[in-house]
Amino acid sequence: MRTQPFILALDQGTTSSRSVVFDAQGRELASAQREFTQHYPQPGWVEHDAGEIWDTQLETIHEALRKAGIGADQLAAIGITNQRETTLLWERASGRPLGPAIVWQDRRTADHCARLREAGLLGGIRQRTGLLLDPYFSATKIAWLLEETPGLRRRAEQGEVCFGTIDSWLLYRLSGGRAHLTDVSNASRTLLFDIHRLAWDDWLLEQFGIPRALLPEVRPSAGHFADSDPAMLGAAVPVTGVAGDQQAALFGQACITPGMAKNTYGTGAFLVMNIGPKPLICDGALTTLAWQLGNAPPVYAMEASIFVAGAAIQWLRDGLGLVASAAEAEELARSVEDSGGVIFVPALTGLGAPHWDSQARGLIIGITRGTTRAHLARAAIEAMAFQVRDGLDAMRAGAGVALRELRVDGGAARNDLLLQFQADLLATPVLRPAVTETTVLGAAALAAVGAGLADEAELARRWALQRRFEPAMQGAPQDRHYREWQEAVRRSLHWARD
Ligand code: ADP
Repeated sequence: MRTQPFILALDQGTTSSRSVVFDAQGRELASAQREFTQHYPQPGWVEHDAGEIWDTQLETIHEALRKAGIGADQLAAIGITNQRETTLLWERASGRPLGPAIVWQDRRTADHCARLREAGLLGGIRQRTGLLLDPYFSATKIAWLLEETPGLRRRAEQGEVCFGTIDSWLLYRLSGGRAHLTDVSNASRTLLFDIHRLAWDDWLLEQFGIPRALLPEVRPSAGHFADSDPAMLGAAVPVTGVAGDQQAALFGQACITPGMAKNTYGTGAFLVMNIGPKPLICDGALTTLAWQLGNAPPVYAMEASIFVAGAAIQWLRDGLGLVASAAEAEELARSVEDSGGVIFVPALTGLGAPHWDSQARGLIIGITRGTTRAHLARAAIEAMAFQVRDGLDAMRAGAGVALRELRVDGGAARNDLLLQFQADLLATPVLRPAVTETTVLGAAALAAVGAGLADEAELARRWALQRRFEPAMQGAPQDRHYREWQEAVRRSLHWARD
């Protein structure tokens, strides 16, 4: 029997594991999703159980295949996308996790980062990796795990231990313990990878005290990684596409030429711009690998991570009890013409790009006797757009590219008011696609490219618009409002100094 070109995409996220089956045209046939446990052992610590991650992922694979009415032997390829930076060590021989998976949100290594900064290492690290010295990334998490268990460092030096981000872990388990691999996009989030040479870097390994024997082999994002273990899925299916979640979303949005960008408005927001084959490094934004397709030159991206976007709406709901739902916040915001001069800087967990200030705290300013909850709701929605403009301005300056349009996705991208305000504020059209599940779509698309079933041009043709928001209101009032925002941000910085 000829294998049908069905593609299975795995989306291993921060709160749930998902699997989606796509047909040859990139249409979704079936999906399954399982949440798993978040562990918060101490303030600022966030852990996952790697065993539970794998179990939930495997359950969703079987369920999605069952719902699609196909067997694994009808799959042409598997794609993987994952929560990035989350760090795990396991025993090479047995696959037994050695400690918890330390999640990207975890702040336990803030002191380690501060010590390295004081030692003057930021410049060298930033130049090689395109990143910043922040606990967000993997390197200091690996160091913490190595210190925590007596004897582990020695075992790591002897090659008995594997480090992986979640893509590596899924590849290892899917392949029945045969593969210890990652892709360039995930490697570029570890602080150990030289993004110019596309190689693990000895100087970086030394600064963080990480034995090289721990590291996975780095591969292009599209190409053959490994075959699934038939004992696991019932067939040997090639894994041919792997990328971190934001990079996969950029690919799923078909932002395949330099200057194309997408923003995901979720709990946080992630603005990512394709900057082509040169890793430009600029103030305010991160530079990272977008993907590498086979032996083609790598594609780089600039990224602005915004910690609190839709989460500000959740805070209006759960923290203040001001609204019953996010939809009500949108409705309320629509009931007023503007925010009545109110600015809400949602630095609830510090500020990410372009300020990277963990001491910033939330601020609501411009309140008068006339201020109502509708103005607050409007200010919270506007804050998402203001933060995207901050990030984009940093990128425009650094990459020297004009933005023709912004493609959007994520839960809050259903908010038309937000997207119109965003278009006005950027003076750039904002485009919402028909399919907003861009992350898992991107993983499937990478797998299709890696298996030789599709190319980038075809992917671009498949991308379909749902609605385009043209910049309408521009000029003085908009600019004044944005300057007020910038002033409010300045007042929120460094607030929580100890
Ligand atoms: P994540 O994947 O980060 O968990 P989602 O992409 O599912 O998040 O988006 C959920 C976020 O979107 C929530 O923070 C919620 O407050 C916000 N959200 C949902 N609908 C709206 C809306 N109509 N207006 C503004 N924000 C919204």
